[in-house]
Amino acid sequence: MIKNYDVVIIGAGGAGLRAAVEIPKEYSCAVLSKVFPPRSHTGTAQGGVCAALANEEEDSWENHAFDTVKGSDYLGDQDSIETMCKDAIRAIIELEHMGLPFSRTPEGKIAQRKFGGHTKPADPNDPYGKRVPVNRACYSADRTGHVMLQTLFENCIKNQVDFYSEYFVTDIILEGKVCKGVVAFNIATGEVTMFHAKAVMFATGGYGRVFRITSNAHVGTGDGTGLIYKNGLPLEDMEFFQFHPTGLWKLGILVSEAARGEGGILKNKDGERFMQRYAPTVMDLAPRDMVSRAIISEIREGRGILGSDGTHYVNLDVSHLGKKVIDEKLPEITGFARTYLGVEPTKEPIPIQPTAHYAMGGIPTDVDCRVLADEKGTVVQGLYAAGECACVSVHGGNRLGTNSLLDIVVFGRRGGKAIVDFLKTAEFSEITSSPEEKTKQKIKNVLANTGNEKVYALRTELQEWMMDKCGIFRNEADLKSMIAKLGELKERFKNISVQDKGLAFNTDLMEAIELENLLFNAEATVYSALNRNESRGAHTREDFPARDDVNWMNHTFIFKNDEGDPKITKKPVVVTKYKPMERKY
Ligand SMILES: Cc1cc2nc3c(=O)[nH]c(=O)nc-3n(C[C@H](O)[C@H](O)[C@H](O)COP(=O)(O)OP(=O)(O)OC[C@H]3O[C@@H](n4cnc5c(N)ncnc54)[C@H](O)[C@@H]3O)c2cc1C
Repeated sequence: MIKNYDVVIIGAGGAGLRAAVEIPKEYSCAVLSKVFPPRSHTGTAQGGVCAALANEEEDSWENHAFDTVKGSDYLGDQDSIETMCKDAIRAIIELEHMGLPFSRTPEGKIAQRKFGGHTKPADPNDPYGKRVPVNRACYSADRTGHVMLQTLFENCIKNQVDFYSEYFVTDIILEGKVCKGVVAFNIATGEVTMFHAKAVMFATGGYGRVFRITSNAHVGTGDGTGLIYKNGLPLEDMEFFQFHPTGLWKLGILVSEAARGEGGILKNKDGERFMQRYAPTVMDLAPRDMVSRAIISEIREGRGILGSDGTHYVNLDVSHLGKKVIDEKLPEITGFARTYLGVEPTKEPIPIQPTAHYAMGGIPTDVDCRVLADEKGTVVQGLYAAGECACVSVHGGNRLGTNSLLDIVVFGRRGGKAIVDFLKTAEFSEITSSPEEKTKQKIKNVLANTGNEKVYALRTELQEWMMDKCGIFRNEADLKSMIAKLGELKERFKNISVQDKGLAFNTDLMEAIELENLLFNAEATVYSALNRNESRGAHTREDFPARDDVNWMNHTFIFKNDEGDPKITKKPVVVTKYKPMERKY
């Protein structure tokens, strides 16, 4: 089957939906999602979305931009960061006008709270001197992403966007450097459809499922980044993967930074507030890469708490905040602790460990979300990317909390606007290959395969190895062993077989295709990590512990070459006015 649309957006998270809202009714627009739209991962975001509204205290977009540059460990492109932080204020007011129910101050303004790495100068006359935490995160209790996604979904429905719910995109139609559409199958029936489009946007989210302990939903398998890489286009800065410090112990389910923003404290086995040794000024509200490393260091040095299964954790204590604050501001996350770990957060601490959370890297784009074919800035005609699957790059080596919900609405909108501009003169380009046949053949092959390897077993092995060898701390020997493991897993993947041979709701089949994408994401991550001989942001090399601004103020671009092997090039970081400084908090 063939369907024609002016624009096809893959992904119904915040980025995809915000872009769709921007497409006027005279253009046909389809949004494809492998889950029902409001079940996209954006809906699980808890803590907030930031903008220097200055509702609770003095603040400015310049403060926000400086924090984002410093938080990125000077790898973020400063022009993109300025664009995002300036536009943040408008973006929040716009969401309010669309109907997003923010929590309020007693006077009725949008309430704001503290989040890691968001600061302002202690002395306004010394902008780059000592800084103190600032209330910058706008929120809706601890369900900010949920209300954002519902609001955007309602606005898309009002805008008569066509939704293809539970459609799984398996291929991108790329001929030369022109994108002409995508191929997807209907999960309910297995029927394959070719979506012929003038413009395509990838908004497929992250790939946290490449790691064993993750906060990401099961759909976070990096299908978009996997497909881009498989088709010979580059991925940028894949070595930078954020571990959030506070996942529920053993499960990885997120306990939002809002818990620390409201005053929660991390403690080791001696009850010590250990963050005062690692970040004396902002302590528990240091950026995530630093807090995650601090937790692992505490555990390595024998100050973790031994769990019943022999693994270690540290405690997050919110009990001193009192029942009223906990029930009003942190109801969701404290509910998770009760349900999944059986602890009562109003009386006892919550056991936590770092959890794989957010991909700073992804599909390289310019500030208007146009996908780049190389480090020189060549644009792929008709192809756009926004949200967590994209790399603009505003987060650089480490994303600050609440900057992603901001990224998806700011760049989702910019991408939507750029597509509308492009559509004014764009025509449908003829498709000369038969891409839907490739997907039909792929499905046939997976169903017919009789090998003795199981998808879940390979996936678990991949996730455990990635956690151990390419997690918070890395070194050359571990990364090389991970590369060897990946080679083995790719060989074994050829021998997978699925139990369900049908076409209706065949989750076995979906998981097989997702595993292939996870393997592509893992390959790009590990090779990029081995290549970067320095420690910056979330990328910590034990064998290269220092940041090296002389050689590494560069983004990594990784491609598959003609032989299918990874090749790496570099692109210089854009620096406007923030010169790299030592990153201390
Ligand atoms: C638990 C949690 C809490 C978070 N809290 C915050 C927070 O408080 N503040 C903040 O700023 N950030 C937060 N983040 C990060 C932020 O929520 C995400 O980075 C952001 O929402 C991603 O949005 P997105 O639109 O890019 O993708 P997603 O919301 O992940 O959506 C991806 C979409 O792509 C679709 N898709 C993927 N593959 C395919 C395919 N093959 N075929 C068809 N469709 C496909 C999916 O169905 C889905 O609709 C949190 C993240 C997590 C995991």
